[in-house]
Amino acid sequence: MSILDTINHIGEEITIEGWIDTKRDHGKISFIDLRDRTAKVQVVLVPASLDEASQSLIVEIRPEWVIRIRGLVKARPERLINTDLATGTVEIEALSIEVLNTAITPVFPLDQDKNEISEELRLQYRYLDLRRSSMYKNLANRHKVTQFIRNFLDKEGFLEIETPILTKSTPEGARDFVVPSRHQPGSFYALPQSPQQYKQLLMASGIEKYFQIARCFRDEDTRKDRQPEFTQLDLEISFVEAEDVIALNEKLLIDLVTQLYPEKKIQTIPFPRISYAEAMEKYGNDRPDIREDKEDTNILAFCWIIDFPQFEKTEQGNWTFSHNPFSAPKPEYREQLLEKKDIGNIISTQYDIVLNGFEIGGGSIRNHNPEALRIVLEILGYKGEIVDQAFGHMLTALASGTPPHGGIAWGLDRLLTVLQNESSIREVIAFPKTGDGRDPMMQSPNPIQIDQLLELGLGLQKK
Ligand code: ASP
Repeated sequence: MSILDTINHIGEEITIEGWIDTKRDHGKISFIDLRDRTAKVQVVLVPASLDEASQSLIVEIRPEWVIRIRGLVKARPERLINTDLATGTVEIEALSIEVLNTAITPVFPLDQDKNEISEELRLQYRYLDLRRSSMYKNLANRHKVTQFIRNFLDKEGFLEIETPILTKSTPEGARDFVVPSRHQPGSFYALPQSPQQYKQLLMASGIEKYFQIARCFRDEDTRKDRQPEFTQLDLEISFVEAEDVIALNEKLLIDLVTQLYPEKKIQTIPFPRISYAEAMEKYGNDRPDIREDKEDTNILAFCWIIDFPQFEKTEQGNWTFSHNPFSAPKPEYREQLLEKKDIGNIISTQYDIVLNGFEIGGGSIRNHNPEALRIVLEILGYKGEIVDQAFGHMLTALASGTPPHGGIAWGLDRLLTVLQNESSIREVIAFPKTGDGRDPMMQSPNPIQIDQLLELGLGLQKK
């Protein structure tokens, strides 16, 4: 029986399992709070009520030991009801105690505010950290959000399709993580920065409606709201215009908030649309926090940022894509792109979704015409053979009857951080890395054996 369920069994003998949260000894009588994932309950230990084998355990048992209690559920008298506990109307009179496992003293107390404990320590002992009810709630709500998304998109006719993790570099503007190949010494896979090319190739495959809760890998310099690996809700649809993708995603976000976070209020529906130029002029950035009341934790101010320039100048004066090399220009700029005229003023179909000052997603309608993609790649400085080497498969697929298509990806970790009123994406990821990309629990990354290097045809250079 779950601990929360005990409130429905007053007067009955029950068995519960869990962790000892706290223990208080008052001479002849001891109390423990027993905790499982559903709740905590007060258990009263009186030697006279306990069987003989259990009596000696009263002094032995300690916090974080895992025990099974057989006991009687008793209603608490009115004046002793504890309104801070979900089970505050009852307490359990123990009849027997069974120790399922002992526990070394935890390195930090689990009832201490998590923000007061160093993050390094929390991550090193993440399994202890995750025993907190607040962390359980973050993971449980993350599960609810992904289930909701899956059901919603399933009803809309989408297929959830997995794409490879061992793949080839996709340019998303970050460095790749690479994996050496043993069979082809000197060759490497890249971990996907996003499933961008695969999802477009799925449109070439006639799938029409694809989504994936996809893990993405970007070897970026550390930033507070970045992780070397993170999760996107990635989707792509054939035969659509920007308006269709925006409408579908807006509906999904509104339904999700209304049903899973009823305490939250969306500031403006439909979500305001702000052009990139206006955002830069009015807010000085392209992810404005447009909340009218920034003190209220329950206000969600979504907005779309649209009309981004297709290209930007790098510090070296070359053109680079502002979001995605596969994005199409808005239809009225198509000729301008094909003629490579006034490149800096070409406006793309890119749309970003922003929530309370965080960019939580972005996407675009893609260039499904191979010539248009070739021209974009030329503007980006890819020449001749290199285009075919890096993008030949995409150009050939586009030339093989690929329908018009577009999509979006949400940064799921960031969206959850805002919805859960957390300050860092690490609070909504079960096993995150530190700011500098380490996992203090597994102690990764770590050196590998010389044999393993030799097998891969690799050598290490001393710095
Ligand atoms: N692949 C893009 C990204 O990861 C999103 C998209 O355009 O669908 O940012």
